[in-house]
Amino acid sequence: MEKRISGHTGVMALIGSPVGHSGSPAMYNYSFERLGLDYVYVAFDIKVEEVGDAIAAMRTFHMRGCNVTMPCKTEAARYMDELSPAARIIGAVNTIVNDGGKLTGYITDGEGFVNNLKDHGIDIRGKKITVAGGGGAATAIQVQCALDGAREISIFNRKDAFWGRTLETVEKIRAAVPGCVVHVYDIADTKRMTEEIAASDIFANATIVGMKPMENESVVKDLSAFRPGLVVADAVYDPEETRLLREAKEAGCTCIGGKGMLLWQGVAAFKLYTGEDMPVAEVKERFFR
Ligand code: NAD
Repeated sequence: MEKRISGHTGVMALIGSPVGHSGSPAMYNYSFERLGLDYVYVAFDIKVEEVGDAIAAMRTFHMRGCNVTMPCKTEAARYMDELSPAARIIGAVNTIVNDGGKLTGYITDGEGFVNNLKDHGIDIRGKKITVAGGGGAATAIQVQCALDGAREISIFNRKDAFWGRTLETVEKIRAAVPGCVVHVYDIADTKRMTEEIAASDIFANATIVGMKPMENESVVKDLSAFRPGLVVADAVYDPEETRLLREAKEAGCTCIGGKGMLLWQGVAAFKLYTGEDMPVAEVKERFFR
């Protein structure tokens, strides 16, 4: 590493809080070294109220880019000169590219989800997907699936602080992608959820249910819609095999964990920063096994 860093080395970073556990620095620095790119990637623990300063510093230091994680994604969008179509609809960014002082915000979480499906041989085009969740990950998934040609999206969320945002997302998708049929339901309506999953090609969980400390829970209470041929994907990546995926596997579904989504959102960001393809097979082998 010390041989690699010079006075010319460009800096990229992850901002958010917490970031100490993040696998991004290892994944990016390995890829820079492997492709001979003169960048270094670090992580800065930034609170929401510090986002404006962090983005100003990004301009001052001529940083090529920043990834943004929870809880700063929505706040960061406010400081962008331009937003990608998905970031505009979602109102949040996880990738900022600095082109000579002009900052463009992207959100690659949804792309990560769709490309992870692709990596498993599944094409979202023309499919019906049911998604549990109305937060950051869920919104990104729903918007990207609509933009990429999903036929129908049924969204289930609790009537909590995210409910209003979920209703707004539905309206935004309807306006941006009129050909995609979108509905929103209360996740407490188990009967409806079972019917929607039964009529879907793909079911995705993008709530925090299944993630530690809720690792013994699943958003799907009635397993009768689980069957061979149904794809069940989880955004949760810790634990790698959630209760949802375990139960879906037992019912013969095709199961896809959240780690691949994490990899592919990084691959998309890497391309935006460098114009080059991350060495995905090697990164997968080293950091995602
Ligand atoms: P968020 O805080 O923005 O949203 C939380 C969601 O969980 C909301 O929809 C909320 O209504 C729902 N929820 C909370 N408690 C619930 C309960 N008891 N029952 C049902 N629903 C409940 O969080 P987020 O950033 O969207 O993250 C959601 C999950 O996705 C996390 O596990 C996160 O680690 C994961 N994630 C994964 C990736 C990836 O690349 N794999 C990317 C982003 C987020």
